[in-house]
Amino acid sequence: MVIEVKKLVGKGKYTGEFAFDYVPDADKVLVPLSKIDKVRVEGSFEIFDDDSVGVNFTLSYTLRGQCSYCLADAEQQIGYSSEVLFVTDKDDCDNYVYDGIKADLKVAVDDALLFSQPAVLLCKEGCEGIKIN
Ligand SMILES: [Zn+2]
Repeated sequence: MVIEVKKLVGKGKYTGEFAFDYVPDADKVLVPLSKIDKVRVEGSFEIFDDDSVGVNFTLSYTLRGQCSYCLADAEQQIGYSSEVLFVTDKDDCDNYVYDGIKADLKVAVDDALLFSQPAVLLCKEGCEGIKIN
């Protein structure tokens, strides 16, 4: 998902909304024995006078796999919101840098996906793990 900043500014359009689905690379799934088929991304952006672009977005997806404690099938719905800023100043370490022409959301979405994942996937709240009798 790319925001065509220069084109939009040329058209006098400084705000907008977007929605797309994306399939994360397998190495972006941190929880062992689980996978994410598809991530829904919805959000909006605003282009400011200094060419920086503020982007708000929400990720939603189902984390599916085996319970981290008992290995039973498990899935969890996850929703996560993020607010980021794209800037043209290459020395800005706090924000995402873009070339002033197109802002590619992929890195920001990948980062949010990493932050959004729980440490463990559980089959149910309070799972006590495999019972050994
Ligand atoms: Zn369990």
